[in-house]
Amino acid sequence: MSKQFSPLASTLLFAQRQHGLFINNQSQAAISGATMELENPANGEFLCSVAQADVMDVDRAVHAAKNAFEGQAWGKMRPRERQNLLWRLADLMERDAQILAELECLNNGKSAQVALVMDVQLSIDFLRYMAGWATKITGSTVDVSIPLIPDADFHGFTRREPAGVVGAIVAWNFPLLLACWKLAPALATGCSMVLKPADETPLSVLKMAELVQEAGYPEGVFNVITGVGSIAGAALSEHPLVNKLTFTGSTQVGQIIGKAALDNMTRITLELGGKSPTIVLADANIKTAAAGAANAIFFNHGQVCSAGSRLYVQREIFDQVVEEIAAIANSMQLGEGMDPSTDMGPLISSKQQKRVQRYIDQGKALGAKIVCGGESFGPGYFVQPTVISEINQSSPLVQEEIFGPVLVAIPFDNIEEVIELANDNPYGLGASIWSNDLALVHRLIPRIKSGSVWVNCHSALDPALPFGGYKMSGYGREMGEEAIFSYTEHKSVLIRI
Ligand code: NAP
Ligand code: MG
Repeated sequence: MSKQFSPLASTLLFAQRQHGLFINNQSQAAISGATMELENPANGEFLCSVAQADVMDVDRAVHAAKNAFEGQAWGKMRPRERQNLLWRLADLMERDAQILAELECLNNGKSAQVALVMDVQLSIDFLRYMAGWATKITGSTVDVSIPLIPDADFHGFTRREPAGVVGAIVAWNFPLLLACWKLAPALATGCSMVLKPADETPLSVLKMAELVQEAGYPEGVFNVITGVGSIAGAALSEHPLVNKLTFTGSTQVGQIIGKAALDNMTRITLELGGKSPTIVLADANIKTAAAGAANAIFFNHGQVCSAGSRLYVQREIFDQVVEEIAAIANSMQLGEGMDPSTDMGPLISSKQQKRVQRYIDQGKALGAKIVCGGESFGPGYFVQPTVISEINQSSPLVQEEIFGPVLVAIPFDNIEEVIELANDNPYGLGASIWSNDLALVHRLIPRIKSGSVWVNCHSALDPALPFGGYKMSGYGREMGEEAIFSYTEHKSVLIRI
């Protein structure tokens, strides 16, 4: 770690201490006493150790959440108080924003500056958006017909009730933000939660847990179990007292969790992988589209579920757009995230670096053109921003999620062709269209099979707009009113009067 760009003393103090599980508003060791080590991906050095939960710890946390859900303090809390608590948590996160951003940087490798204005600010915005929902959860009155009892009068209505204990499991690419996407609607609706962060990146969420306690949440409402997915994550997804599971991660693990959920009829939301197309039409402004396409793939080092990892450009401007993107890639400074001049930090782990490099090497072996980048380096887990052309649509580099700073670029001749290419992929999370031809854009939007379509922007998310995937990208939606629906049961009531 360069001395020049040291984090705050309070960040270091937190990052370097040994962490327990967060259950019932207390830091607790795992019952087995097991711990696991965290590292800084910018240099591979040891950061600190955290408790490693097993089945017994998960059971403890789920019981804590169940007791909270059924207890007076949380179970009987008025919506206004739930709103105020969420708002208070957002205020505390704002107070400690720099610490949270620096923890994301040390633990994940991303730029602290970017984490401050993106990860942390968007988390705060999201909590405040969902705080507003706490007082706006309603059912409806229904004028029923009931033909079999013609003389009777009825009052029919529906109510939305909190789903109960929520098990949340998240990935490492936006550790705090992904957790907040789940925590905020859960706490707005009156659910309680057990959260399992990714084994690589629990620190920012453990810091937030302290703020949850400081905000005044009753014990057991929010619990964090650190550990590995195949043990702690599996135990949480299989636990019969969990009423709803919400998962962000790979499609492969999502399928395992989905099957476990079905066995218990646990409600489930799955936010999974993606291979999102960026479509540039011939009329687009070349510089704007190239800058947008570069950002779509290189933001967060390509470790974004909705990253624009497939580029389709209309043939007449293909060379110019690809050249511009390569120029942007070549100008990017790679380094540790505490350095404010860093444009791109390391990938999350040695495993991820090797995986991404394997895909690039496969492209080379297939005879594809490496327009720029193409290499990895250390110390730390860096991969150069890479653009690859002259590659076949059926290649694994075009079909599979790489989850790194690797863009594959393919030209197209007409609109029917690009619709076919864009949809020719198992995933369907997002897509962007770069054009000012309004009529053409509107004809394209309904034909793209993805949960989000962005026009002249990419991966632009708002708390009020539902987010989720078509096809193998997931099941259900987060954000907006749909998130509130997904953390509640809808009860019908019919009273004969
Ligand atoms: P991952 O391997 O699927 O892991 C995600 C989470 O699941 C981690 O907390 C992991 O724990 C846990 N897990 C692993 N095996 C499990 C099991 N058998 N049962 C229960 N939980 C288990 O994904 P990742 O590598 O962390 O993240 C990258 C993936 O996430 C990419 O595919 C990306 O597209 C996707 N993603 C999607 C979105 C979205 O909103 N659609 C957003 C971000 C990322 P451990 O870490 O301890 O193994
Ligand atoms: Mg992991």
